[in-house]
Amino acid sequence: MIVLVINCGSSSVKYQVIEQDTGSVKTSGLIERVGVDLTYEAALAKVLEDANQFAIAAVGHRVVHGGERFTDATLINSEVIASIYECIRFAPLHNPANLAGIKAAQAVLPNVPHVAVFDTAFHSRMPAHAYSYAIDHQLAASEGIRRYGFHGTSHAYVAQQAASYLEQPLNELRLISLHLGNGASACAIEFGHSVDTSMGMTPLEGLVMGTRAGDIDAGAVVSLINSGKYTAAEVDRILNKESGLKGVSGISQDLREVENAAAEGDERARLAIQLFVYRARKYIGAYAAAMGGLDAVILTGGIGENSSSMRQRILQRFDFLGLKLDEQRNIDARVSASMPVAKVCRDISKVKALAIKTNEELMIARQTAQVVNRHEDKQTPEGIPIAVSARHIHLDAATFKTLFGADATLTPLKDLSQPGQYACNERLTLVGPRNRIENVRILGPLRTKNQIEISRTDEFFLGIDAPVRDSGRTEGSAPITLEGPKGSVSLSEGLICARRHIHMHPDDARRFGVKDNDEVEVAITGGPRDLVFGDVLIRVHPSYRLEMHIDTDEANAAELSNNTDGALVYTGINDASAEIRSRQTDISG
Ligand code: ADP
Repeated sequence: MIVLVINCGSSSVKYQVIEQDTGSVKTSGLIERVGVDLTYEAALAKVLEDANQFAIAAVGHRVVHGGERFTDATLINSEVIASIYECIRFAPLHNPANLAGIKAAQAVLPNVPHVAVFDTAFHSRMPAHAYSYAIDHQLAASEGIRRYGFHGTSHAYVAQQAASYLEQPLNELRLISLHLGNGASACAIEFGHSVDTSMGMTPLEGLVMGTRAGDIDAGAVVSLINSGKYTAAEVDRILNKESGLKGVSGISQDLREVENAAAEGDERARLAIQLFVYRARKYIGAYAAAMGGLDAVILTGGIGENSSSMRQRILQRFDFLGLKLDEQRNIDARVSASMPVAKVCRDISKVKALAIKTNEELMIARQTAQVVNRHEDKQTPEGIPIAVSARHIHLDAATFKTLFGADATLTPLKDLSQPGQYACNERLTLVGPRNRIENVRILGPLRTKNQIEISRTDEFFLGIDAPVRDSGRTEGSAPITLEGPKGSVSLSEGLICARRHIHMHPDDARRFGVKDNDEVEVAITGGPRDLVFGDVLIRVHPSYRLEMHIDTDEANAAELSNNTDGALVYTGINDASAEIRSRQTDISG
């Protein structure tokens, strides 16, 4: 599919015509002084003069702010335009230009689908503790004051590139991506999802940037305005246009010029670089801690891709994290469209360091094609039963013996829907620092690892913070004490909040067009409360029967009743959508 990718800024229009499956760029261009010398309509007419030599099948528009509404790229219609309009208050410079571009492009290319791809979308599933500011919750909700994050298209792209370079599935990696261009942001990407990012409600927060201050005490902003010497508009300009590398160095927003001045001994230029580097290092440390581990650090954007000296400053002395920079590789590293990834760490480095050339246009083209295909390629209705999984326990043989005695065996109570699985008569007590939960059932057969699956509500009751994990992945999970009739065991790990998932046979997977480890969305509609479950993991095995498993909190949130209608929406690499019908069964026994 040939896609025209349009990026309308406040004074320029950038475009590329991309063959989305091969990534080849057919033509590209930049039209400047838009809004000064010519209108967006005139600029788009010029774009079309060039782009029209190719059979454009769809147009992908970069849209900076999608607010809370847009969690994915979306086909543009009048209602979508109205919602982008509502987000102008969060991105007063960008969204109006994006909208002007959309309208002008629709006028010159009325017969192809137009798709909006949002900078914020990749971050839309951050957990509440990452996106919330610690302010009055009603004020936050009514004013939309929360972290949205930006550069999502770039962070998502380089994360994919890193996974394929490392030959590991993205959903098994913990990555930190630093996009260092004129704008700069850090992103913690845990198992394929943005779980935190440094830009906030606006692109001002976080790292030091070309002209933006990044993190600053909100009290300083209030104090400047209260001084009576600066209006709010002036403070806005100071923090967005006169700060960062430019403000601190007093020389330039362009890192190359600041580096040259620093090399000649300019103190302010040196401080600007030190501030930039220090802030980036702080975020790496913070996000490694936030994710409880790290597999790779990615540097991208003009500075991350090109400045070996900045990469060296940012990545040195991280041996304690398991990251060993290779100075020579770092100096030699060159990234390009044909060789987008360069390793800059030593081979023995446990945590990898990669310079990666970002390609937001290609990502926009791919997402545009996905959205268009999804709409053209609806599948036939298909029922997926939904089972609610109450808290339960899987034990290994040694732990079972300690809790129930050396001669004890598991006694099956009833078979569960997945073949070979059964609920047992045996039950245990979970002991947390705050409370105990009694009569938690053991599921058989015994396994090689202990795994205790509880809901978020249970976590709060017990007073333990357990991570959301796929079944089987208990490494680094939460500790828990188990009490049985013959003894108790304090496990250092094994407690998880199970990730929702769909079991299916390989035949089902073929029918749905998904594979093991894919992630899909499932929308429950038609019940008392419509709800979309994101991040639903697909698990394929010849012994599995088609069934989606969610926990009691999730079932309550959806107010699931028998025969609720829903829709399965594939995300990621898949582009189909299908109606589903759910039925509720309790697998807890
Ligand atoms: P944008 O965010 O506008 O897309 P870029 O990603 O192009 O910006 O990054 C621009 C920044 O990259 C500038 O600060 C520029 O100085 C820096 N940069 C580009 N090339 C180099 C280089 N070879 N060495 C050092 N800095 C570089």
